[in-house]
Amino acid sequence: MILASPHDSGVTGPSTRVADMSGAPPAAHGRYLSDAVANATLASFQSSDPSTARATSSMKFCSVCGHAVSSRIPPGDNRERFVCDNCGTIHYQNPRNVVGTVPVWEDKVLLCRRAIEPRYGYWTLPAGFMELGETTSQAAARETLEEAGARVEIQSLFSLLNVPHVHQVHLFYLARLLDIDIAAGEESLEVRLFAEHEIPWQDIAFPTVGQTLRYFLADRANGHFGLHTGDIFRSLRDG
Ligand SMILES: [Zn+2]
Repeated sequence: MILASPHDSGVTGPSTRVADMSGAPPAAHGRYLSDAVANATLASFQSSDPSTARATSSMKFCSVCGHAVSSRIPPGDNRERFVCDNCGTIHYQNPRNVVGTVPVWEDKVLLCRRAIEPRYGYWTLPAGFMELGETTSQAAARETLEEAGARVEIQSLFSLLNVPHVHQVHLFYLARLLDIDIAAGEESLEVRLFAEHEIPWQDIAFPTVGQTLRYFLADRANGHFGLHTGDIFRSLRDG
């Protein structure tokens, strides 16, 4: 189970620099939910009951030939898969990696306010789905640049959190901001540097973000940064 969060709400100190794109239309696709399973994933992400988690995302049609698929256990396998009755393709589905950073400048950490659903208007560490052909640290740096306009030096892997009910693994790297020339990207309303007492705990977008921030603050207080792993089974609403 996850540590209780401190609830230091509503404190809004001065920002180092804010780029407000609130007039811009939300991007069509969220980094956390950017494909055809978005609705099913969001629904399960909002469930607080892990027993309702689905072992598979929904699929109706074969992505190879367009024929309808059916769900069954293939020969030699031990769980149901979507299998194409036309071309025989077995559509294996596996967890996806969401990768991001804890960008640090002096005693402050960078957060982005989301310009996209889910969790529009809530604060997050910069993070998103890995792309094919990149490493986890490359993905972390790319997402940080895309969402916050921030250039970072990637440091050590800091948190690895399984989120099985949404079929994801979230990884966050410690990162040193190279400068504070930051600006909201397409998927952010604004970006800001927060001192510890300014962190908007009540408005954090995802449990993995809140948990990673708590790990970070605890490690910083102890003077040593480790690698933290954990499993999260709870809903978005619990921060
Ligand atoms: Zn097919």
